[in-house]
Amino acid sequence: MMQHCEMCEAKSVTVQLLEEKFVYGCGDDQVLLSATVPVYECGECGEMYTGDEAEQLRHEAVCKHLGRLTPKEIKAIRDSYDLTQEKFAEVSGFGVASIKRWERGNQIQGESANNLLLLLRMPSNLRLVREANRRAAFQPRFRTKMSESTLKQSLEFKLRFPVTREKAA
Ligand SMILES: [Zn+2]
Repeated sequence: MMQHCEMCEAKSVTVQLLEEKFVYGCGDDQVLLSATVPVYECGECGEMYTGDEAEQLRHEAVCKHLGRLTPKEIKAIRDSYDLTQEKFAEVSGFGVASIKRWERGNQIQGESANNLLLLLRMPSNLRLVREANRRAAFQPRFRTKMSESTLKQSLEFKLRFPVTREKAA
């Protein structure tokens, strides 16, 4: 499909894959990353530009640099279980807004979220998490009626504050 030039609207745009270098991070963490992206060039005015695909490829390069799953990889995990974003949020405990941001490439997940995603890649781990959720959702009902005093005690029960050490005599 022929594209119109973004500058002059001419219909003589060619595309080629070029390695592009870009700076990521700041201060001591600054690194030079590279991504091979489609670059469009207009035969009329000579304008060169990149599009959304390039933006996505740069984002992937940053994810790889940080050792984080890319948006595509996250979506692939969710798709492998045939879960909607909402269902995946329910199973994993992530917020659905976070999942949307990660998959759209608007945000890169933190290290702990990334670790959990990596673990959820394994079906046995997802099963484990689902079983734990089911147990948490199960509310046992007591058949025997509790006495007034037991009930009162249970309402008064508090976790103890950390025990303060006695002063040496
Ligand atoms: Zn042009």
